[in-house]
Amino acid sequence: VPPARDRLRIAIQKSGRLADPARALLASCGLSWRESRDRLFCYGETLPVDLLLVRDDDIPGLIADGVCDLGVVGRNVLAEQGADRAANDRPAAFREWRSLGFGSCRLALAVPEGWAWQGPAQLAGMRIATSYPALLSRWLAEQGVAAEVVLLSGSVEIAPRLGQADAVCDIVSSGATLAANQLKPVATMFESEAVLAGPVAELDAVRGELAALLLRRLDGVLRMRH
Ligand code: ATP
Ligand code: ZN
Repeated sequence: VPPARDRLRIAIQKSGRLADPARALLASCGLSWRESRDRLFCYGETLPVDLLLVRDDDIPGLIADGVCDLGVVGRNVLAEQGADRAANDRPAAFREWRSLGFGSCRLALAVPEGWAWQGPAQLAGMRIATSYPALLSRWLAEQGVAAEVVLLSGSVEIAPRLGQADAVCDIVSSGATLAANQLKPVATMFESEAVLAGPVAELDAVRGELAALLLRRLDGVLRMRH
């Protein structure tokens, strides 16, 4: 059993789309930090609330393992890893605590511009490239369509041009990246934004109190932003 921690630890993206807005939101809750030399850890000064700067994909697992108490992550990442756990009969370990109102995007199915889209049944037997295999598989099952999921960790939208896939399932905000690859979005699978994620199980007393204090401040800040 690891020693009890009396400080709250929040994982945020080290760099990328959610890094600055996540930090700014937490700062507007009255938190401030001293940064470590390696820029991986920020020590909370005004409150015992520290930050761990990580890749967004690691955040759900860090919460599941109890390495971090909370995290700021895209709902898309949280849902994918949650769906993957569920598909493998593992218990839910993390969940969405609050939606944060930034980082909006959607997980969309996109097909070559030349296709006349007639609906999901058209995907039968096709190869669909994605970094979201659990969410795509779940959606295909809901549609009753048997298609092949091609797992790619990046550059999903060039897969059709490379002949690796017929269609893609990827994160879209403006649609500019799809258009640049001669693809068009035809179905939305999932609406996403940044969320505060936390464990399914309750935190212990000390960290639970800190989390409750943070949530009260956060709710005030989010209300003012509306
Ligand atoms: P990391 O190095 O942390 O793994 P990443 O490249 O996976 O970073 P980003 O591209 O910074 O992640 O995106 C982080 C999150 O921002 C996404 O998971 C998603 O929730 C959100 N997001 C908003 N708009 C977009 C977009 N146009 N493309 C990708 N993600 C977007
Ligand atoms: Zn990532």
